[in-house]
Amino acid sequence: MSGLYIHIPFCRKACTYCDFHFSTSLKTREAVLAAMQRELEVRAMELAGAPLGTIYFGGGTPSLMEPDAIAGFIDQARRLVRVEESAEVTLEVNPDDVDELRLSAWKAAGITRLSIGIQSFREERLRFMGRAHTAEQSDHALQLIAGAGFASWTLDLIYGLPGMTLEEWDAQIDAALAMGTPHISAYCLTVEEKTTLAHRVKAGDVVMPNDADQAAQFQRLIERMEQAGLVHYEISNFGREGHFSRHNTSYWHGVPYLGIGPSAHSFIGGVRRWNVAHNVRYAKGVEEGATYWQEETLTPAQRTNERLMTGLRTMWGVDLSTLEVDPEKENAPLIAHYLARGDMERRGTRLVLTRQGRAFADRIASDLFVADDR
Ligand code: SF4
Repeated sequence: MSGLYIHIPFCRKACTYCDFHFSTSLKTREAVLAAMQRELEVRAMELAGAPLGTIYFGGGTPSLMEPDAIAGFIDQARRLVRVEESAEVTLEVNPDDVDELRLSAWKAAGITRLSIGIQSFREERLRFMGRAHTAEQSDHALQLIAGAGFASWTLDLIYGLPGMTLEEWDAQIDAALAMGTPHISAYCLTVEEKTTLAHRVKAGDVVMPNDADQAAQFQRLIERMEQAGLVHYEISNFGREGHFSRHNTSYWHGVPYLGIGPSAHSFIGGVRRWNVAHNVRYAKGVEEGATYWQEETLTPAQRTNERLMTGLRTMWGVDLSTLEVDPEKENAPLIAHYLARGDMERRGTRLVLTRQGRAFADRIASDLFVADDR
């Protein structure tokens, strides 16, 4: 199986914490979409080896585009590559774009799964984050989505907000579960460089919560999701059986994927490639046949470290017997330390993080990294 990621680099408004690639000006829209179609036309052959199991429209805000534009990409992919009958086709949507007409157009286009960026059900939090939608729009959109008959859907929440208490976080989780969502992604607010949030924190205008508060909210999230019957299958992702994201799970399992659009990443045949994160340069590069990307071939050590990083974040852990470089040769004392501390368990040839260890997943993974002699 392989995957296709399509990056729509436009947003209505810049969220204060976001460092993804997007533009709030729609001036380049026609040129960028045309270039993306061209890129897909030229590069689809890279996926010839395996049928396409997932298509994912991310961004940016894909729901800002006309449903016809989304349908155009899906039709084009179906024309160019073999797409599995039961392929998962996900569209990221924002609450202010959801209405009955669009929902039926997305369904008719072939979208099977919606991912809605709720982030918070509280109006003042949405304003703090600079979101374009209101809490009322979230409620309305969720009601429409829950009744729209898509095969699956998911919502995003953000915790670790300044001053957030466990009571507030509980109320957010209650509101999300009340909608009967089969899947939730929850992310801890992080301060990314050059964002409005980073400037406000630097100016002392915003004080971020401490690690202990954020960790307590993460543990509460895990407990609440387990009680509600949602499986914690990846650090930030919880789903009912049959509703795990196939697309993201493929990334974590090293399945090849093609990324189309400005800033999109691809990983095919051990080569990682990333497109320029600039709408005009991207469109010009595609149009002129110039190089608008950079790429690198990963070394065995890099591939091993990537597997450690992504695998340890999932409930399946990482199978040491399948790694190209054995981390036990270099890092046996550290592995023993994390096993003894109860952060990690050994299941056959796999290393899997415990609930306690999941709070430090990235640090544990990087501690187990093997040296790259290149
Ligand atoms: S809508 Fe999404 S991509 Fe756009 S600015 Fe907000 S968080 Fe970033």
